[in-house]
Amino acid sequence: MNGKNKILLVEDSPETSLLLTRVLEKEGYLVTSTSDGKEALNLLEENIPDVIILDLYIEGLPGLEVCRLIRTEPRNHPVYIIMLTSEKDSVVDGLDSGADDYMVKPSNLDELKARVRKGVRSAEDKRFSIQDSQTSWYNKHFFDLYQNTKISFLVKESIPISIVMADIDYFKKINDTYGHDMGDTILVEFSQVLKSNCRKRDVPIRWGGEEFIILLLGITVATATKVAERMRSVVANHTFSKDLKVTASFGVSLYQTDEKDFFKGADEALYQAKEAGRNCVVAIGI
Ligand code: GH3
Ligand code: MG
Ligand code: MG
Ligand code: MG
Repeated sequence: MNGKNKILLVEDSPETSLLLTRVLEKEGYLVTSTSDGKEALNLLEENIPDVIILDLYIEGLPGLEVCRLIRTEPRNHPVYIIMLTSEKDSVVDGLDSGADDYMVKPSNLDELKARVRKGVRSAEDKRFSIQDSQTSWYNKHFFDLYQNTKISFLVKESIPISIVMADIDYFKKINDTYGHDMGDTILVEFSQVLKSNCRKRDVPIRWGGEEFIILLLGITVATATKVAERMRSVVANHTFSKDLKVTASFGVSLYQTDEKDFFKGADEALYQAKEAGRNCVVAIGI
Protein backbone atom coordinates (compact mmCIF):
# COMPACT_ATOMS: atom_id res chain seq x y z
CA MET A 1 0.00 0.00 0.00
CA ASN A 2 1.18 3.52 -0.76
CA GLY A 3 1.57 6.02 2.05
CA LYS A 4 0.97 5.46 5.72
CA ASN A 5 -1.34 2.82 7.14
CA LYS A 6 -4.39 4.40 8.70
CA ILE A 7 -5.83 3.94 12.15
CA LEU A 8 -9.11 5.26 13.49
CA LEU A 9 -9.10 5.60 17.26
CA VAL A 10 -12.50 5.80 18.94
CA GLU A 11 -11.95 6.56 22.61
CA ASP A 12 -13.71 9.01 24.94
CA SER A 13 -10.97 9.29 27.54
CA PRO A 14 -8.77 12.23 26.47
CA GLU A 15 -5.74 10.86 28.33
CA THR A 16 -5.93 7.41 26.73
CA SER A 17 -6.67 8.92 23.32
CA LEU A 18 -3.66 11.22 23.53
CA LEU A 19 -1.36 8.48 24.75
CA LEU A 20 -2.39 5.98 22.05
CA THR A 21 -2.25 8.62 19.31
CA ARG A 22 1.33 9.51 20.31
CA VAL A 23 2.42 5.88 20.49
CA LEU A 24 0.86 4.95 17.16
CA GLU A 25 2.07 8.05 15.33
CA LYS A 26 5.56 7.23 16.52
CA GLU A 27 5.12 3.83 14.86
CA GLY A 28 4.45 5.63 11.58
CA TYR A 29 0.67 5.35 11.38
CA LEU A 30 -1.72 8.07 10.30
CA VAL A 31 -4.08 8.34 13.27
CA THR A 32 -7.52 9.94 13.26
CA SER A 33 -9.37 10.07 16.55
CA THR A 34 -12.85 10.75 17.85
CA SER A 35 -14.67 10.25 21.14
CA ASP A 36 -18.04 9.72 19.48
CA GLY A 37 -19.49 6.56 17.88
CA LYS A 38 -21.66 8.37 15.35
CA GLU A 39 -18.76 10.56 14.30
CA ALA A 40 -16.69 7.39 13.84
CA LEU A 41 -19.28 6.05 11.37
CA ASN A 42 -19.27 9.37 9.48
CA LEU A 43 -15.48 9.33 9.27
CA LEU A 44 -15.64 5.81 7.81
CA GLU A 45 -17.80 7.03 4.94
CA GLU A 46 -15.03 9.39 3.95
CA ASN A 47 -12.04 7.18 4.56
CA ILE A 48 -11.64 3.48 5.31
CA PRO A 49 -8.75 2.85 7.73
CA ASP A 50 -6.79 -0.39 8.13
CA VAL A 51 -7.45 -0.69 11.85
CA ILE A 52 -10.07 0.71 14.21
CA ILE A 53 -9.31 0.77 17.91
CA LEU A 54 -12.75 0.95 19.46
CA ASP A 55 -13.46 1.63 23.09
CA LEU A 56 -16.61 -0.13 24.29
CA TYR A 57 -17.96 2.85 26.26
CA ILE A 58 -17.95 5.99 24.15
CA GLU A 59 -20.16 8.98 23.39
CA GLY A 60 -22.96 8.97 20.81
CA LEU A 61 -23.50 5.23 20.38
CA PRO A 62 -22.42 2.16 22.33
CA GLY A 63 -19.20 0.61 21.02
CA LEU A 64 -20.92 -2.72 20.32
CA GLU A 65 -23.50 -1.00 18.12
CA VAL A 66 -20.79 0.90 16.25
CA CYS A 67 -19.02 -2.40 15.66
CA ARG A 68 -22.17 -4.04 14.35
CA LEU A 69 -22.96 -1.12 12.03
CA ILE A 70 -19.42 -1.10 10.62
CA ARG A 71 -19.92 -4.74 9.65
CA THR A 72 -23.17 -4.07 7.76
CA GLU A 73 -21.21 -2.13 5.11
CA PRO A 74 -19.30 -4.45 2.75
CA ARG A 75 -16.82 -1.69 1.83
CA ASN A 76 -15.55 -1.96 5.40
CA HIS A 77 -14.72 -5.63 4.89
CA PRO A 78 -10.92 -5.13 5.14
CA VAL A 79 -11.09 -3.10 8.35
CA TYR A 80 -9.64 -4.84 11.43
CA ILE A 81 -11.41 -3.88 14.64
CA ILE A 82 -9.64 -4.06 17.99
CA MET A 83 -12.12 -3.58 20.83
CA LEU A 84 -10.92 -1.96 24.06
CA THR A 85 -12.76 -3.21 27.13
CA SER A 86 -12.36 -2.58 30.84
CA GLU A 87 -13.45 -6.04 31.83
CA LYS A 88 -13.13 -9.45 30.25
CA ASP A 89 -16.92 -10.01 30.47
CA SER A 90 -17.60 -7.93 27.35
CA VAL A 91 -15.24 -9.92 25.14
CA VAL A 92 -17.84 -12.41 23.89
CA ASP A 93 -20.28 -9.64 22.94
CA GLY A 94 -17.48 -7.69 21.27
CA LEU A 95 -16.33 -10.57 19.11
CA ASP A 96 -19.94 -11.49 18.28
CA SER A 97 -20.60 -7.91 17.15
CA GLY A 98 -17.84 -8.18 14.56
CA ALA A 99 -14.64 -7.21 16.39
CA ASP A 100 -11.55 -9.11 15.22
CA ASP A 101 -9.58 -8.75 18.42
CA TYR A 102 -9.77 -7.16 21.84
CA MET A 103 -7.58 -5.78 24.59
CA VAL A 104 -8.47 -5.34 28.23
CA LYS A 105 -7.56 -1.91 29.64
CA PRO A 106 -5.12 -0.75 30.94
CA SER A 107 -3.28 -2.09 27.95
CA ASN A 108 0.28 -3.17 27.52
CA LEU A 109 1.54 -0.84 24.78
CA ASP A 110 3.96 -3.33 23.19
CA GLU A 111 1.12 -5.82 22.94
CA LEU A 112 -1.18 -3.19 21.46
CA LYS A 113 1.44 -2.29 18.84
CA ALA A 114 1.83 -5.96 17.89
CA ARG A 115 -1.94 -6.38 17.60
CA VAL A 116 -2.14 -3.29 15.38
CA ARG A 117 0.61 -4.72 13.13
CA LYS A 118 -1.38 -7.93 12.88
CA GLY A 119 -4.49 -5.89 12.02
CA VAL A 120 -2.68 -3.99 9.27
CA ARG A 121 -1.49 -7.27 7.70
CA SER A 122 -5.02 -8.63 7.81
CA ALA A 123 -6.50 -5.45 6.28
CA GLU A 124 -3.98 -5.50 3.43
CA ASP A 125 -4.76 -9.15 2.64
CA LYS A 126 -8.49 -8.55 2.71
CA ARG A 127 -8.21 -5.45 0.57
CA PHE A 128 -6.39 -7.44 -2.10
CA SER A 129 -9.05 -10.12 -1.93
CA ILE A 130 -11.85 -7.73 -2.95
CA GLN A 131 -9.96 -5.62 -5.50
CA ASP A 132 -8.98 -6.14 -9.09
CA SER A 133 -5.22 -5.59 -8.97
CA GLN A 134 -5.02 -3.99 -12.41
CA THR A 135 -7.67 -1.28 -12.07
CA SER A 136 -8.26 -1.18 -8.27
CA TRP A 137 -11.97 -1.56 -8.98
CA TYR A 138 -13.84 -4.07 -6.87
CA ASN A 139 -13.85 -7.66 -8.15
CA LYS A 140 -16.46 -10.41 -8.36
CA HIS A 141 -15.62 -11.66 -4.89
CA PHE A 142 -16.62 -8.26 -3.53
CA PHE A 143 -19.87 -8.46 -5.48
CA ASP A 144 -20.67 -11.72 -3.67
CA LEU A 145 -20.09 -10.01 -0.33
CA TYR A 146 -22.21 -7.11 -1.44
CA GLN A 147 -24.96 -9.36 -2.67
CA ASN A 148 -25.07 -11.21 0.65
CA THR A 149 -25.19 -8.17 2.91
CA LYS A 150 -26.00 -4.79 1.44
CA ILE A 151 -28.21 -5.71 -1.51
CA SER A 152 -30.65 -7.79 0.50
CA PHE A 153 -30.97 -4.84 2.88
CA LEU A 154 -31.59 -2.35 0.04
CA VAL A 155 -34.19 -4.64 -1.52
CA LYS A 156 -35.98 -5.00 1.83
CA GLU A 157 -36.08 -1.22 2.14
CA SER A 158 -37.30 -0.87 -1.50
CA ILE A 159 -34.29 1.25 -2.39
CA PRO A 160 -33.66 1.03 -6.15
CA ILE A 161 -30.30 -0.12 -7.48
CA SER A 162 -29.47 0.84 -11.03
CA ILE A 163 -26.74 -0.81 -13.05
CA VAL A 164 -24.53 0.84 -15.62
CA MET A 165 -22.63 -1.70 -17.71
CA ALA A 166 -19.80 -0.36 -19.87
CA ASP A 167 -17.79 -2.06 -22.60
CA ILE A 168 -15.02 -0.52 -24.70
CA ASP A 169 -15.77 -0.42 -28.43
CA TYR A 170 -13.52 -2.42 -30.76
CA PHE A 171 -11.04 -3.05 -27.98
CA LYS A 172 -9.62 -6.06 -29.76
CA LYS A 173 -8.39 -3.71 -32.48
CA ILE A 174 -6.38 -1.72 -29.90
CA ASN A 175 -4.69 -4.92 -28.74
CA ASP A 176 -4.07 -6.05 -32.31
CA THR A 177 -2.67 -2.70 -33.43
CA TYR A 178 -0.66 -1.54 -30.40
CA GLY A 179 -0.04 -4.74 -28.45
CA HIS A 180 -1.52 -6.22 -25.30
CA ASP A 181 0.49 -4.02 -22.91
CA MET A 182 -0.88 -0.88 -24.54
CA GLY A 183 -4.32 -2.49 -24.33
CA ASP A 184 -3.79 -2.88 -20.58
CA THR A 185 -2.78 0.78 -20.26
CA ILE A 186 -5.90 1.92 -22.11
CA LEU A 187 -8.04 -0.37 -19.95
CA VAL A 188 -6.68 1.18 -16.75
CA GLU A 189 -7.11 4.71 -18.09
CA PHE A 190 -10.65 3.87 -19.12
CA SER A 191 -11.46 2.58 -15.63
CA GLN A 192 -10.01 5.77 -14.10
CA VAL A 193 -12.07 8.01 -16.37
CA LEU A 194 -15.25 6.13 -15.40
CA LYS A 195 -14.41 6.12 -11.71
CA SER A 196 -13.77 9.84 -11.64
CA ASN A 197 -17.37 10.25 -12.76
CA CYS A 198 -18.78 8.09 -9.95
CA ARG A 199 -20.01 9.30 -6.58
CA LYS A 200 -18.36 7.93 -3.45
CA ARG A 201 -21.30 5.68 -2.69
CA ASP A 202 -21.44 4.10 -6.16
CA VAL A 203 -19.93 0.65 -6.44
CA PRO A 204 -17.52 0.08 -9.36
CA ILE A 205 -16.91 -3.57 -10.20
CA ARG A 206 -14.64 -4.97 -12.89
CA TRP A 207 -16.83 -7.76 -14.11
CA GLY A 208 -14.67 -9.28 -16.80
CA GLY A 209 -11.83 -8.43 -19.17
CA GLU A 210 -13.05 -5.14 -20.57
CA GLU A 211 -16.48 -5.19 -18.97
CA PHE A 212 -17.23 -2.78 -16.14
CA ILE A 213 -20.30 -2.55 -13.93
CA ILE A 214 -21.27 0.32 -11.68
CA LEU A 215 -24.02 -0.15 -9.10
CA LEU A 216 -25.83 3.12 -8.37
CA LEU A 217 -27.65 2.91 -5.06
CA GLY A 218 -30.92 4.76 -4.56
CA ILE A 219 -30.87 5.92 -8.17
CA THR A 220 -33.63 5.40 -10.76
CA VAL A 221 -32.91 4.14 -14.28
CA ALA A 222 -33.73 7.60 -15.66
CA THR A 223 -31.01 9.23 -13.53
CA ALA A 224 -28.57 6.36 -14.11
CA THR A 225 -29.03 6.89 -17.85
CA LYS A 226 -27.92 10.50 -17.46
CA VAL A 227 -24.88 9.34 -15.48
CA ALA A 228 -24.03 6.84 -18.23
CA GLU A 229 -24.47 9.48 -20.92
CA ARG A 230 -22.02 11.75 -19.08
CA MET A 231 -19.54 8.87 -18.80
CA ARG A 232 -19.91 8.07 -22.49
CA SER A 233 -19.26 11.67 -23.41
CA VAL A 234 -16.26 12.05 -21.08
CA VAL A 235 -14.69 8.86 -22.49
CA ALA A 236 -15.29 9.92 -26.10
CA ASN A 237 -13.69 13.32 -25.44
CA HIS A 238 -10.75 11.99 -23.45
CA THR A 239 -7.35 11.68 -25.08
CA PHE A 240 -5.80 8.41 -24.00
CA SER A 241 -2.13 7.39 -24.06
CA LYS A 242 -0.46 7.56 -27.48
CA ASP A 243 -3.11 10.20 -28.34
CA LEU A 244 -5.63 7.43 -28.88
CA LYS A 245 -9.34 8.13 -29.00
CA VAL A 246 -11.55 5.44 -27.50
CA THR A 247 -15.30 5.06 -27.26
CA ALA A 248 -17.49 2.80 -25.18
CA SER A 249 -21.07 1.52 -25.21
CA PHE A 250 -23.31 1.50 -22.16
CA GLY A 251 -26.29 -0.56 -21.02
CA VAL A 252 -28.49 0.62 -18.16
CA SER A 253 -31.24 -1.13 -16.23
CA LEU A 254 -32.47 -1.91 -12.74
CA TYR A 255 -30.79 -4.61 -10.69
CA GLN A 256 -33.04 -7.62 -11.19
CA THR A 257 -33.58 -9.41 -7.91
CA ASP A 258 -36.19 -11.73 -9.41
CA GLU A 259 -33.74 -13.06 -11.99
CA LYS A 260 -30.87 -15.46 -11.45
CA ASP A 261 -28.83 -13.16 -13.63
CA PHE A 262 -29.13 -9.83 -11.81
CA PHE A 263 -27.55 -8.00 -14.74
CA LYS A 264 -29.70 -9.49 -17.47
CA GLY A 265 -31.39 -6.17 -18.29
CA ALA A 266 -28.14 -4.21 -18.46
CA ASP A 267 -26.55 -6.95 -20.52
CA GLU A 268 -29.40 -6.85 -23.02
CA ALA A 269 -29.26 -3.02 -23.12
CA LEU A 270 -25.51 -3.14 -23.77
CA TYR A 271 -26.04 -5.61 -26.59
CA GLN A 272 -28.57 -3.22 -28.12
CA ALA A 273 -26.13 -0.32 -27.77
CA LYS A 274 -23.52 -2.30 -29.73
CA GLU A 275 -26.12 -3.18 -32.37
CA ALA A 276 -27.14 0.48 -32.61
CA GLY A 277 -23.64 1.40 -33.75
CA ARG A 278 -21.66 1.72 -30.45
CA ASN A 279 -20.58 4.91 -28.58
CA CYS A 280 -24.11 5.21 -27.19
CA VAL A 281 -26.27 4.48 -24.13
CA VAL A 282 -29.31 2.20 -24.16
CA ALA A 283 -31.58 1.89 -21.13
CA ILE A 284 -34.15 -0.78 -20.43
CA GLY A 285 -37.03 -0.17 -18.01
CA ILE A 286 -36.77 3.60 -17.92
P1 GH3 B 1 -17.05 -4.63 -29.22
O1 GH3 B 1 -17.14 -3.21 -29.71
O2 GH3 B 1 -18.09 -5.48 -29.84
O3 GH3 B 1 -17.08 -4.71 -27.74
O4 GH3 B 1 -15.66 -5.18 -29.75
P2 GH3 B 1 -14.40 -5.61 -28.90
O5 GH3 B 1 -13.28 -5.84 -29.81
O6 GH3 B 1 -14.17 -4.62 -27.81
O7 GH3 B 1 -14.95 -6.91 -28.20
P3 GH3 B 1 -14.48 -8.39 -28.17
O8 GH3 B 1 -15.32 -9.04 -27.13
O9 GH3 B 1 -14.46 -8.98 -29.55
O10 GH3 B 1 -12.98 -8.33 -27.68
C1 GH3 B 1 -12.63 -7.94 -26.40
C2 GH3 B 1 -11.14 -8.01 -26.31
O11 GH3 B 1 -10.71 -7.56 -25.04
C3 GH3 B 1 -10.60 -9.41 -26.47
C4 GH3 B 1 -9.67 -9.57 -25.30
O12 GH3 B 1 -8.44 -10.10 -25.71
C5 GH3 B 1 -9.48 -8.18 -24.78
N1 GH3 B 1 -9.22 -8.15 -23.35
C6 GH3 B 1 -9.97 -8.63 -22.34
N2 GH3 B 1 -9.38 -8.40 -21.15
C7 GH3 B 1 -8.19 -7.77 -21.41
C8 GH3 B 1 -7.13 -7.28 -20.60
O13 GH3 B 1 -7.14 -7.36 -19.35
N3 GH3 B 1 -6.10 -6.67 -21.21
C9 GH3 B 1 -6.06 -6.53 -22.58
N4 GH3 B 1 -5.02 -5.91 -23.12
N5 GH3 B 1 -7.03 -7.01 -23.36
C10 GH3 B 1 -8.10 -7.61 -22.80
MG1 MG C 1 -14.75 4.97 27.29
MG1 MG D 1 -15.64 -4.40 -26.26
MG1 MG E 1 -16.60 -7.28 -24.22
